[in-house]
Amino acid sequence: MSTSSNRSRTLEEVVQYCESLYEDTKLQCVQRWKAAEAGRRAIGFMPVYVPRELIYAAGVLPVGLMGGSDRVEIIKGDAYYQSYICHIPRSTIEMALSHYLDDLDGLLCPSICDVIRNLSGMWKLLFPDRLCRYLDFPQNFTPEVGGAYYRRELEELLADLERLSGRKVSEGELNRCIELYNHNRELVEQLYDLRAKQPWLVPTIESYLLLRAGNLLPVEEHNELLENYLREVPGSHRRQMDNIRVFLIGSFCEQPPLGLIRTLEKAGCYIVDDDFVLTSRWLTRPVEPGPDPLGRLCKAYLETSTFHSSKYEGPQPKPKLLLEQIARRRADGVVFCAPSFCDPALLDQPMYMRALDEAGIAHTSFKYAENTGQFQNIREQVGTFSDSIKLWGAPSPVRT
Ligand code: SF4
Repeated sequence: MSTSSNRSRTLEEVVQYCESLYEDTKLQCVQRWKAAEAGRRAIGFMPVYVPRELIYAAGVLPVGLMGGSDRVEIIKGDAYYQSYICHIPRSTIEMALSHYLDDLDGLLCPSICDVIRNLSGMWKLLFPDRLCRYLDFPQNFTPEVGGAYYRRELEELLADLERLSGRKVSEGELNRCIELYNHNRELVEQLYDLRAKQPWLVPTIESYLLLRAGNLLPVEEHNELLENYLREVPGSHRRQMDNIRVFLIGSFCEQPPLGLIRTLEKAGCYIVDDDFVLTSRWLTRPVEPGPDPLGRLCKAYLETSTFHSSKYEGPQPKPKLLLEQIARRRADGVVFCAPSFCDPALLDQPMYMRALDEAGIAHTSFKYAENTGQFQNIREQVGTFSDSIKLWGAPSPVRT
């Protein structure tokens, strides 16, 4: 299913290619992919996680949708939602009504929050001829209860996808796709490990754009792109700066504009971990291919999915898992960077802040919208946070 160019790019060419995909709000690359072979289908999915292996095995391209950023002016979208909610459902509806998403044969809305649930209802009303599924995830992590429930969800999803593509998914094909996405997760993890080890080599703006490219490309091509970057970047001779190491949390759904990510780095922060484009890091261990691959995907969700604001707490408390991840990445502090009105992110924040205070880890917080245009206040706040850590180690928490 690959449309890969099968050629090696220089580091600059990889980054430029990712930028061009980021700018591709009208999904022209999806249009080209579909046009290359008769009968191809594509389906959009909202953050945070969907089992892309299953979608791809059905011959359908999973396309990650993350709003319109600051490149889409919202006119019609505002009419569909009340004022005091986040931005991403408005820009998604705006893009759909303005024909940006015409190449999508459907939409998957994972159960992340009420806003996404309402978006699925809105989509069904506006586009009754296109597939739309609200995908629920288990709140219980025992195989007999949550596992059985999730399996039924995936079986229904698979049946819908098979109807869409007109193609029955074999165990062999699903196992092949599981291996492709295992490799993808492994490469993304290598990217994150390298950035944590030598953050001056991998600016977050580049790791972010690479992950965003995976929202649009077939997995084979995204794997090649990641391999290409990982091969080229060690020779880039980038200069190490006197920056602090921060863990960024809260940006898992509506995305900050690129300018905001650049601002954080310019304000003296190396981001050594984050929750951007989490679908590519949701499962923390490879899914073992073998008999009953659908059951293996269910087991992987129950046993290996990461901790998250939209996910019910498993046996381990979320603050404990956050502290472990901060220690693993050797972060000096935490930046809570969440969209305005994002209930899942903002409801977890006080719980995380208390754990950080008790552990003596510095933190700061601010909110954004995907079309935020002014970053000066954020630059000053984060710059002060960075300076205070450089001067005094772990200062009292900085809050706004
Ligand atoms: S940004 Fe937050 S509140 Fe808005 S749709 Fe995403 S998870 Fe829900």
